[in-house]
Amino acid sequence: MRLTIVGCSGSFPGPDSAASCYLVEAPFEGRTFRLLLDLGSGSLGPLQDHIDLRDIDAISLSHLHPDHCFDMSGLYVVRKYHPAGPPPRLPVYAPAGSDWQLSNAYGTTAPNGMTLPFEFRDVTDGFAATVGPFTLRAMRTPHPVEAYAIRVEADGRSLVYSGDTGPDPRLERFAEGADVFLCEASFVESADNPPDLHLTGAEAGHIAAAARVGRLLLTHIPPWTDRDEVEADLTTVYDGDYRLVRAGDVVEL
Ligand SMILES: [Zn+2]
Ligand SMILES: [Zn+2]
Repeated sequence: MRLTIVGCSGSFPGPDSAASCYLVEAPFEGRTFRLLLDLGSGSLGPLQDHIDLRDIDAISLSHLHPDHCFDMSGLYVVRKYHPAGPPPRLPVYAPAGSDWQLSNAYGTTAPNGMTLPFEFRDVTDGFAATVGPFTLRAMRTPHPVEAYAIRVEADGRSLVYSGDTGPDPRLERFAEGADVFLCEASFVESADNPPDLHLTGAEAGHIAAAARVGRLLLTHIPPWTDRDEVEADLTTVYDGDYRLVRAGDVVEL
């Protein structure tokens, strides 16, 4: 399995990165299967540095905040109007109501919404599905809208992506033993943070340590947040393998 950080800026795109988008690839039936975790604002551009937009096989959206899904509008255009003809319908695993919400974001008045290029499949807490070479699982996380952490497994390797989440002990079990834990760290301990929204580096570290993950990757740091402070918060509680990811990073699992 290979993970590419297409975009990792928290909450909105920054000068050095688009918002959340992660490309997960694995061999499948003699070719490479390409799964996207989120397609946040600004990510469709840099995604083309890595793959042809017609070669996406499936998408999993953690939730419907713009920094995780708004470039579905651009991909809708690509998949519907590409001069080489429309590629096959793309399965999109997402919270219920995604077609309606994304259609509104795009502004389409088509009665079938965005379902010509996309086949929406509802995700719920405890969801599990086989997607190409991957087993996909979802866990509802505390966040102001319906949001999920996503676990992806293939060939005995595992990647857990936190999505956006406040602290939740269930995440420790969900991330248990993951080879890579891609976890958000939007907040710093020195601030007065609202509950059930995001994690600090220290809170991400607590989860990673309890879940005994192989490697912690911190992501979703907003452009206005000091990365050094996030890292300092993390290292007060965590002495395992970690990295604060940047756009373009590639991680082999
Ligand atoms: Zn976010
Ligand atoms: Zn969010």
